[in-house]
Amino acid sequence: MLDAVVVGSGPNGLAAAVTLARAGLSVTVLEAEATVGGGCRTLAPGDDGDLLAGLPAGVVHDVCSAVHPMAWASPFFRAFDLPAHGVELRTPDVSYAQPLPGGRAAVAWRDLDRTADGLGPDATAWRTLLGPLAQEWEAVVAVGLSDRRSVPPGVLDGRRPVRGTTAALRFGLGLLEQGTRAWGARFVGDAAPALLTGVAAHTITTLPSLAGAGTSLLLGALAHASPAAHHPFDGGWPVPRGGSGAIVAALRADLEAHGGTVVTRHPVRTRADLPAARAVLFDTTPRTLLAVLGDAVAPGLRGALSRFRHGDAAAKVDYVLSGPVPWAEPLVGRAGTVHVGGTREQMAAAEAAVGSGRHAERPVCLVSDPTVVDDTRRAATPRGERRPLWTYTHVPAGSDLDVTETVTAQIERYAPGFRDVVVASRCVPGDAMEQHNANYVGGDIAAGAATMWQLVARPTLRADPYRVGAGGVYLCSASTPPGPGVHGMGGWHAARRALREVFGVRVAPL
Ligand SMILES: Cc1cc2nc3c(=O)[nH]c(=O)nc-3n(C[C@H](O)[C@H](O)[C@H](O)COP(=O)(O)OP(=O)(O)OC[C@H]3O[C@@H](n4cnc5c(N)ncnc54)[C@H](O)[C@@H]3O)c2cc1C
Repeated sequence: MLDAVVVGSGPNGLAAAVTLARAGLSVTVLEAEATVGGGCRTLAPGDDGDLLAGLPAGVVHDVCSAVHPMAWASPFFRAFDLPAHGVELRTPDVSYAQPLPGGRAAVAWRDLDRTADGLGPDATAWRTLLGPLAQEWEAVVAVGLSDRRSVPPGVLDGRRPVRGTTAALRFGLGLLEQGTRAWGARFVGDAAPALLTGVAAHTITTLPSLAGAGTSLLLGALAHASPAAHHPFDGGWPVPRGGSGAIVAALRADLEAHGGTVVTRHPVRTRADLPAARAVLFDTTPRTLLAVLGDAVAPGLRGALSRFRHGDAAAKVDYVLSGPVPWAEPLVGRAGTVHVGGTREQMAAAEAAVGSGRHAERPVCLVSDPTVVDDTRRAATPRGERRPLWTYTHVPAGSDLDVTETVTAQIERYAPGFRDVVVASRCVPGDAMEQHNANYVGGDIAAGAATMWQLVARPTLRADPYRVGAGGVYLCSASTPPGPGVHGMGGWHAARRALREVFGVRVAPL
């Protein structure tokens, strides 16, 4: 009998597997798809299931996550030590940018003061909102990536408890301000609020929302954070050299080095698909767990898990370009991430349309050009240069619309001439996201609506969000706290509980 089986090889599943294997347990990861990594996969054109034609051989592209502030900041990944495992995170000077009407743009530099200086009348508003959070980023991360059930280490019991607690309080106050109708109170111009709203929109909720505010403050702080001198990364919003799959490859290699195994093309649909094991950790949605082991779950919890709600969707459009995006404001071209959607009001209107089940005419689009910091992502061909451009946009849950023209037109609005550099494109509509990752129900890339309630009571309002009844069964995916993102924290929190409760290991490795 195995010690542990992990169902699903996303970053949370692999984080759980690595934590268990490093404790000396026998661990097998079962993955439904042909490739490992879930929402953190990098493919080359022609890979199984990948249809992005037009990229030259050797140029890879990310099919889900692309930009990784949480990978350098997460307590799990800091303990795991990505650089020691060969992962190079490349940080652009501009963490993210927000093109604005009239050829203008707001730009979030790594440097907070340089950012504030570019925001005219809102320089002080930006400095006072994000400066203290960027300074105390470790406390902000401890709160933002916690299990939502205990006081996070680094806040009360950290090295600087008073500063940590003050930062946590500031974060809470910022949440109440930016997550409610008071969100405009501190701003005078349109650039700073638009810049912040582009980040809030990552949650795919109507805005303002507490969840959106939490996301904008956490990721906004990391954009300007400068880790201590002993920290191997530069902070900011980095892109892994060679694609997000580098993170997955590092986790998988570590797992295998500690005796663990990964089996691909092994969907777990029923109990019979699971080998005998003392603990089973599901890097899946509650829905999948219930389909496989529902009869073993107490009726009350079964009912609560079956009420877990999925949110609106993302539809992806990936491009092959013959050169850089011709942004009207050239500074935007220095950003690793661009939020395309205009002003705060325009983005709120677009998110409101999606929230009410309609396709926005001018939706919020997330755009990442990895070549800004990673030269391996482009190549010269006899027909000229070729490089991928990664984008996705927000659509109603279950949407089957091909949004290529909508996204192209939206980028063209802020980058006239964009169409001229597009060589090829490929859309994965919202409802098709689920075909390559069962966790993305109806295109919900957060594996559960990212409302404030569901980010706290994730997946249900119980003292332990990971343990699912007796028998060593745990949920460890983005459907558990802290929620979506490549941080491995759901897996780490769940695996440490399993170690303690099933195997009597009180001091977890890492
Ligand atoms: C388009 C897109 C863009 C994103 N951009 C970013 C970004 O830039 N930065 C960031 O930090 N995050 C981003 N995210 C979010 C991030 O990718 C996810 O939150 C993260 O991958 C969640 O990790 P996970 O381990 O919980 O689940 P996943 O990564 O979703 O992995 C779950 C795995 O379980 C497998 N599985 C599911 N059911 C079964 C079953 N029954 N049997 C066997 N295997 C099963 C799936 O195939 C999958 O491999 C993005 C996501 C998407 C889709």
